[in-house]
Parts: sequence; C-alpha cells; structure tokens
Amino acid sequence: MSSIPFAYHDGHVHVFPAQWQRRIYQWFDQSGWRLFYQNLLEESIWQHIRRCGADGASILIYAHRPGVAREMNQWLFDWAKNRPDLHLYGTVHPDDPDLSAIVTQALDEFRFAGFKIHANVQMVRPDDPRLDPLYEAVIDRHRSVVVHAGREPHPNHYVGFQYFKNVLTRFPTLRVQVAHLGVDETDDFVTLLDQYPNVFLDTAGVPGTRLNLPDGKLEKIIQSFPNQIIYGSDMPILEESVESHRDRIWKAAASPENQRRIFRGNLERFWSGSE
Ligand SMILES: [Zn+2]
Repeated sequence: MSSIPFAYHDGHVHVFPAQWQRRIYQWFDQSGWRLFYQNLLEESIWQHIRRCGADGASILIYAHRPGVAREMNQWLFDWAKNRPDLHLYGTVHPDDPDLSAIVTQALDEFRFAGFKIHANVQMVRPDDPRLDPLYEAVIDRHRSVVVHAGREPHPNHYVGFQYFKNVLTRFPTLRVQVAHLGVDETDDFVTLLDQYPNVFLDTAGVPGTRLNLPDGKLEKIIQSFPNQIIYGSDMPILEESVESHRDRIWKAAASPENQRRIFRGNLERFWSGSE
C-alpha cells in the first residue's frame, strides 16, 4: 500500500540487462555500499516501483565503455516495447566512433525520451565537444537529457558544476535533469534554476546516507523552485527502501500543490517538452 494519495512518477530508475546489473551490484558491494535491493533484476525492479505506487518512470541506462551502447539501446527498446508508462533514456559512449548514428537511431527509430549521461562512470566531462551532436539532436527534437554532473559519491576529473554550466552557456535551451540535486555542489546547481527554466534537479538517492544534504535544505529548495524539482528514487541503487527515501521527500514538499508537482506534474512537463 502506498502512503501517497495519487499514482506518482519516478524520474530516476536504472534498468540494465541482467549480466550488467549483476556487475553493478558487485561494484557497489566492493565499494562498501550496502544496497537494499541486491537481487532485483530488470522486470522486478520496475514491478517493485509499481507496487510502491508509481505508474510512470524514467528508465536510465548508460554504457560504461565504447562499443556497447547500440546493443544496450536495442535491449532497452525491446524490453520496454509497448509500455507508454516508461520513458526511456538511452546511452552513447563519447568514444563510440558512430556516436551520431547511435543518437539518431535512439531518438528517431526507438523514439527514446533522450539520453542519460553519467559523467562520472563514463569518464566524460558534460562539456566535452564530442557530446555536441547529442545535445543538438536532443534540442532539435524537444527531448531531454539526464546528467550525473555532481561530484558525489565518487569524485573524479569529469564531474563538477563548472563543466555542467559550460554546457548551458552553449546550449541554454537544453532540457536537462541534474541527477542527485547535483550534490555536493547543490547550492551552485540551484543558482541555475532561475536563469534556465529547462533545468530540473532530481532527488535520486538524496537526501540519503551517502548523498546527504544539510537539514532543511531540500525543503528550502522546493519552496523556492517547486516547478523544477523532480522526484527520483535511484532504484535499485539505494541503501534503504524506496518508501523510506520517498516519504522524506514527500514530507519536504510539504504542501499538496508542491507534492503534486514534484511527484508528477514536473516530470510530465519534462517528458512532454512543453514550457
Ligand atoms: Zn542513478
């Protein structure tokens, strides 16, 4: 039973082919994470979210190395066929020699909602010019991107606010969802929201044990920018249940109007490409 009084949307869910998913669980385990959902694969991930009370989700996939994006996008397309409740964010690796063709196939043939860029894992700065054709194609078709641009939980040379800001300087109309509220530079990412109405921040895994925020900060951000915050669980990369993480965000949203925006309306606007 859901404690949320309406069917909501989850803006940040990872689904991979089983062999990749297992390797991801292994990686987090070896890195000292204690994931709550160790054994869920593919379909059972989405079914669990549905049981929690969601009726729509952004499904994100990303290629850890060159040469596999095409196969991953095809897998995602096949897996999610005939499910309009799932909005698919495909992948391309910056070192893929056929990057433009992969982008075109994902957007035009598979009709994906856009792309997930995981700057940290894919080891690409968001402002890397190799990604320009992707941003251009996404803007041209009124689609969107989800970017892990922040430095947490495993900082490296590819993540950080400035690299992300450079993208908006060049592509100010880009419709983009910043994962994890951009921790640990949340204050910097929040400064973008006024100037760039197409920028949204998601709550995936935040606030949580690894990706934490000072007390009261989420409440303040939601009050100031209720139209640009999107609920996301980060399922299955959570060290607690979907419900316990979700219910903290629900509480932070405080008013019924803002709860509706953050758990449904904002994501629908983001998906639709409308202002
Ligand atoms: Zn994630």
